[in-house]
Amino acid sequence: MEKRYFPSIGKEISLLGFGLMRLPIVNNVPGNIDYEVAESMVDRALEGGINYFDTAYVYHAGQSEPFAGKALSRHPRDSYNLATKMPNWQIQNLDQAKETFDNQLGFLQTDYLDFYLVHNLNSEGYKVFLKSGLYDFLRKKKDEGSIRHLGFSMHDNPQHLSLLLDRYEWDFTQIQLNYIDWQSMKAGELYRLLVDKNIPVIVMEPVRGGGLANLPAEAAKVLKDHDPLASQASWALRFVASNPGVLTVLSGMTTPAQLEDNLATFNSFKPLTPAEGEILNKAADNFRLAYPIPCTGCGYCMDCPSGVNIPVNLAAYNHYSKVNLENPDNPIVAVFAFTSVYGALQDGEKSNNCVACEECLSHCPQKIPIPSTLKKITELGASLK
Ligand code: SF4
Ligand code: SF4
Repeated sequence: MEKRYFPSIGKEISLLGFGLMRLPIVNNVPGNIDYEVAESMVDRALEGGINYFDTAYVYHAGQSEPFAGKALSRHPRDSYNLATKMPNWQIQNLDQAKETFDNQLGFLQTDYLDFYLVHNLNSEGYKVFLKSGLYDFLRKKKDEGSIRHLGFSMHDNPQHLSLLLDRYEWDFTQIQLNYIDWQSMKAGELYRLLVDKNIPVIVMEPVRGGGLANLPAEAAKVLKDHDPLASQASWALRFVASNPGVLTVLSGMTTPAQLEDNLATFNSFKPLTPAEGEILNKAADNFRLAYPIPCTGCGYCMDCPSGVNIPVNLAAYNHYSKVNLENPDNPIVAVFAFTSVYGALQDGEKSNNCVACEECLSHCPQKIPIPSTLKKITELGASLK
């Protein structure tokens, strides 16, 4: 397993980290983690050299931390680094912060956290953060030793990142980085800002919610032609891990097969060559063409007060667009593709229920103009009837 050492962190961290937010579940219920499979994946990850495990208070409807505590406490505490996050947006005062923090230590069956993050410290959440006084509380926890390294995660622009870096002292930062968002979401700028300040970067969404492991046909062909044996996920992971400012790359693994594929990538890690970078650029161009709406399906825009299922509506449009591109001579296939996703929505969840209140807008890390996009989807639905 490839490892990275940063003097400010003071120990070797595996370049592949295990994100515990997409664990295998039973009956499609997010809080119903399949303990048997998930525990065996944790054991295999440790055996394969992964020593960084990332969870959060809110993952798996609050069940990820109790799972992590149970699965990891079967192993020596110094064989892994535990990272978790305070749900900043839920914390109105320091009593709530203390209660949440104490609960987390209990769930995780530990008396210290190696890496602790303020979760999703974007511009909106920053107002709550200022009001609650959370930073001073967490600094105190660090001074007392129950937090070893303090950081934050965010989906926002470089200006907001600069503000957070200028006003506070941080040991690391977690950002969304992948070969699609490097330019379109200015993720490359975020990365460079952090490197300039010598702050280790932890990468989330390297495979963009799984989208970069399920590429449109043309993009998949570009990669396959160059290396028939390499998985699509391995290209995405190598792209981010090739940046030397990255401490670890979090992969939210759901199946033992994904874990094995990722372990293989990092057991004999090879940074991307300039020629491979060009190939990836071609795949990225095709990806953007096939999926014009940059939605990752993260769900931060939910719940919509009018009942619209925003991510699924956007997915219907992207699915239509991809199939349309792949079947230029047979437009009916794309119509079926659209109805297979859009038609599965309840009437109340469909795009036409959007009243353009704009409540969802500030929550979208991809800055998608959701109301106007939903209007376009409604028009498409009507035109395909
Ligand atoms: S703008 Fe539309 S989709 Fe967004 S919250 Fe309002 S009604 Fe829901
Ligand atoms: S619209 Fe934005 S917030 Fe909603 S699921 Fe897509 S990317 Fe996430």
